[in-house]
Amino acid sequence: MVKPKTEEEIELLRENAIIVSKTLAEVGKRVAPGVTTNELCRVAETFIRDHGAIPSFLGFEGFPAAICASVNDVVVHGFPSDYVLKEGDIFSADIGTLYKGYNGDSAYTFPVGEVSPETQKLLDVTKASLYKGIEAAVAGNRTGDIGHAVQSYVESFGFSVVRELEGHGLGKEMHEAPGIPNYGRRGNGARLTEGMVICIEPMINLGGRGVYLARNGWAVHTADHKNSAHYELTVVVRKGKAEQLSTFDFIEKD
Ligand code: MG
Ligand code: MG
Repeated sequence: MVKPKTEEEIELLRENAIIVSKTLAEVGKRVAPGVTTNELCRVAETFIRDHGAIPSFLGFEGFPAAICASVNDVVVHGFPSDYVLKEGDIFSADIGTLYKGYNGDSAYTFPVGEVSPETQKLLDVTKASLYKGIEAAVAGNRTGDIGHAVQSYVESFGFSVVRELEGHGLGKEMHEAPGIPNYGRRGNGARLTEGMVICIEPMINLGGRGVYLARNGWAVHTADHKNSAHYELTVVVRKGKAEQLSTFDFIEKD
């Protein structure tokens, strides 16, 4: 049984979610051909610390950087590096904060300049699938309803769902129960109750769903080396309609 968050806890999670959302936007402003992912990581870390928060990924189970920086066929957990982004790449930033004892965690995949039509479609469909998942994150539903919503939408476009990784509850810990798979069957899985705070984060591949772990023990690559996209938001399960804590508005609206 997962304990719902109190409204006081939800406010602290909201503060984290806003810092993360704004950090993603700061990073997004600088995504362009010629920029290294190390530079983008520094932008994120500086912004997070300037807002009194800590980049929670740094040192988490030995992760060596402030953000996950996953380019093209890297699904998640890429290390920032001296790799220079080039026109047509996609760059996924996954960012976490620790602030006032609670966590923030959201992700966005940015196109670098102009990307191919099929890659743009992958980005659009992956992001839309996240909102489909959020629509299913209502009290009384189960985690399988979220997974089903994401999976059925994504697969209708011929894309595939990574199954080795999933969303999660969020609170004092970065990863709390329940797990939120991006595939599943309606009516299956843990029940969602009012006040649960969860991260929904579809990881969607242009080609097949197979992935492998890089030798560094972190970066997850697509087996066929086709592109993969990742979008993540934090929501509160409510009756009737989930409440979003993090948002892409800072990225997408001026
Ligand atoms: Mg994340
Ligand atoms: Mg997450």
